[in-house]
Amino acid sequence: MATDLKVIGVIGGGQMGSGIAQLAAVAGFDVWHHDSDPGALTRATQSISSSINRFISKGQISQGAGRDAINRVRCTLKLDDLRDSDVIIEAIVESEDVKKKLFSELDKIVKVSTILASNTSSISITRIASATRRPSQVIGMHFMNPPPIMKLVEIVRGADTSDEVFATIKALAEKFGKTVVFSHDYPGFIVNRILMPMINEAFHTLYTGVATKEDIDTAMKLGTNQPMGPLALADLIGLDVCLNIMKVLHQGLGDSKYNPCPLLVQYVDAGRLGKKRGIGVYSYK
Ligand code: NAD
Repeated sequence: MATDLKVIGVIGGGQMGSGIAQLAAVAGFDVWHHDSDPGALTRATQSISSSINRFISKGQISQGAGRDAINRVRCTLKLDDLRDSDVIIEAIVESEDVKKKLFSELDKIVKVSTILASNTSSISITRIASATRRPSQVIGMHFMNPPPIMKLVEIVRGADTSDEVFATIKALAEKFGKTVVFSHDYPGFIVNRILMPMINEAFHTLYTGVATKEDIDTAMKLGTNQPMGPLALADLIGLDVCLNIMKVLHQGLGDSKYNPCPLLVQYVDAGRLGKKRGIGVYSYK
C-alpha cells in the first residue's frame, strides 16, 4: 500500500518529470531523479527550487517544509541508483520503442516488488508492460501539466495490472493531493482522446486560413470558457508531444480524422516545439 512506500524514482527531468519529482518530495518521499542528459537535471533542480519557493511565498507551504522537500530530491545520471525505489514514475520522451527499452532495463535493475508507472500521454500500458517480466506491476499514472498545479491524475490499467498495484497507485496519487480517474488502456486514454483532436483541429483552422492564431485562441477561451486557447495550450504541452500523441491516436484507432495537421508536423520539423524552446505557434523570446 502507499503507506509502505518510502522511495520514489522519477525518470525524465523535463517539464513533467521535474513536476512529478517535486510532488513526491513535497509529499514526504525520498526521491531519486534520473535523466540521461545532465543539462536536463540542472534545469529540473532549478525549476523545482523556484516552484517550491513560489509555494512558500504564497504561504501554501512553510519555509522549512519547502527546504526539506528540495533536499529530499537526489539527482543522478546512473539509472542503477533507482534500484531500491518502491515506485518508479517514468516521464521520458513519448516514444513506444524508447519507453519499452527503458522498462526492459529497469525490470532487470529494480527490486522484485517495485511498481513501474508510466506518465505516457497515449501509449499502450499493455505494450510497455510486455517489455518486462512483471506486467502485473506496470501501470499508467498520467499527470497533467504542470503536475504541481493540476488536480488530475488519470490512472490506466494494462491488461495484466493487478488490483493491488492499482490500489497502491491510486492511494499514492491521492497522497500527492490529486483526484483520480480511471481509464481502460486505449489510445490517448480519456484526456488526450478528447483534447488532442481539438488541438489538431485548431491547427487545421489556422492552416486553412479560417482565422489568426490570436483569434482562434480568444474564440475558444472566451467562447467555451477555457483558461487558455488550444494553440497556446499546444505550446505549453510541447508540439512534439502533441504530434506524437496524434500519431498514436491515428495508428491505434485507424481513422483518418486523427491524421496530424501538416502545419503541426512542419512546426515540429522546424524545431518550433513550443514554450520549452522559446518558439512554437507563438514566440516566447
Ligand atoms: P520533455 O521533452 O520536457 O522531457 C523529456 C526528458 O526525458 C528530457 O529531459 C530527456 O533528456 C529525457 N529522456 C529522454 N529519453 C531518456 C532516457 N532513455 N532515459 C532518461 N531520460 C530520458 O517531455 P515532457 O513534456 O516532460 O513529457 C514526458 C512524458 O510525459 C511524455 O511521455 C509525455 O507524453 C508525457 N506527458 C506530457 C505532458 C505535457 O504537457 N508535456 C502532459 C502529460 C504527460
